[in-house]
Amino acid sequence: MASTTLVLGGGVGGLVVARCLRRALPHPHRIVLVERRASFLFEPSLLWLMTGDRTVEGISRPLPRLVPKGVELVRGEIERIEPEKRRVVVEGSALEGDHLVIALGAELAADQLPGLAEGGHDFYTPAGAAGLRDALSAFTGGRLVVMTAAPAYKCPGAPYEAAMLLEWYCRRRGIRDRTEITLYAAEPGPMGTAGPEVSRGVRQMVESKGIAYHPEHQVVGVDPAERRLRFANGVEAGYDLLAFVPPHRAPRVVRESGLAAESGWMAADRRTFETVHPRVYALGDVVSVPLAMGKPLPKAGVFAERQAQVVAHNLAREITGRGSPASYDGVGECFLETGEGRAGFGKGDFYAEPAPRVGLHPPARRWHAAKVLLERMWLRRWI
Ligand SMILES: Cc1cc2nc3c(=O)[nH]c(=O)nc-3n(C[C@H](O)[C@H](O)[C@H](O)COP(=O)(O)OP(=O)(O)OC[C@H]3O[C@@H](n4cnc5c(N)ncnc54)[C@H](O)[C@@H]3O)c2cc1C
Repeated sequence: MASTTLVLGGGVGGLVVARCLRRALPHPHRIVLVERRASFLFEPSLLWLMTGDRTVEGISRPLPRLVPKGVELVRGEIERIEPEKRRVVVEGSALEGDHLVIALGAELAADQLPGLAEGGHDFYTPAGAAGLRDALSAFTGGRLVVMTAAPAYKCPGAPYEAAMLLEWYCRRRGIRDRTEITLYAAEPGPMGTAGPEVSRGVRQMVESKGIAYHPEHQVVGVDPAERRLRFANGVEAGYDLLAFVPPHRAPRVVRESGLAAESGWMAADRRTFETVHPRVYALGDVVSVPLAMGKPLPKAGVFAERQAQVVAHNLAREITGRGSPASYDGVGECFLETGEGRAGFGKGDFYAEPAPRVGLHPPARRWHAAKVLLERMWLRRWI
């Protein structure tokens, strides 16, 4: 009998599930992808949008061009998820499936701190990164502050890359000697889950560029009129231009459907991404995967992509009864842009116990070139 799989979310994880599943399943089986946005955005390139090296159009693609043939695309806001029935409500209309995959990502929540959105520019959304680009072009020097507004956020390398790219931007513009760059981080150090060696390495990269780094500075107040920040440890700081990573939370529909666990995020098996509900899977940023070292698996596209491949493989097996089970291994890598056309490269096993084993290669032109290639692959892959 033909089955229907509902895939919720057309970001990295959802697109990969839909693509792999379509390849693996014969045609009478339906795959329905539900997404509210009209376009897919390659988020790592937001940092290049911020520095004026990309346009919004250049780093996004209309979703229908990326959704594989034979996958039904439903555009709309998912308002309710009923996992026991594998049923969802999309703008008033109900959809039901035999299997459900939840890949709804993380919601950005600048509203959690009054004054934050008005006081600066986030570089985690196209509007925020484009606003920062415009503010930068009018910036002629002064106090440039990069800040993480909460200790946990997707892509743990991004604010460190942002600080280094901004430093390079100021040099290119000839305003570096008139600009003081400071990075206030809510977390105890860069990319902590990857271990002390990687953390030290990234801190060194940042500080070697003359960027002042202040970890364990949790912002508690932003005064947009005075351009002042107040931190939980009592420190206060002024700024002329503020670039920030907003706090994150699980998407509203996940919270309101009672699907968020104690962590605030969804829970799923760390190897198969099955949830407690039969035939319901959750993967990518919407899930919190606890690690033996006490911190969760970082939220990143590289993890969402591989989890999606495993989920699609196992779903196809469940539906067709063919093939052997697959298991997610926790291996991941990332490029860390450092400016001057260079990037560092980290790779490792995040499921290693008692702690992840991750290595960091020093900045080189080839890692930057590899990141550009990855961008092209993501934006052309399904065309
Ligand atoms: C600046 C920046 C740099 C980054 N750099 C890297 C990097 O170098 N490497 C890396 O691996 N990762 C990077 N990431 C992180 C990466 O982009 C995410 O981790 C990845 O997109 C997560 O995939 P996902 O499928 O879980 O969620 P997403 O890709 O966010 O997809 C979730 C989708 O669900 C949709 N959705 C949510 N709620 C609803 C609803 N109610 N109705 C309908 N649709 C809904 C959203 O519109 C979205 O399209 C970066 C992120 C940022 C912001």
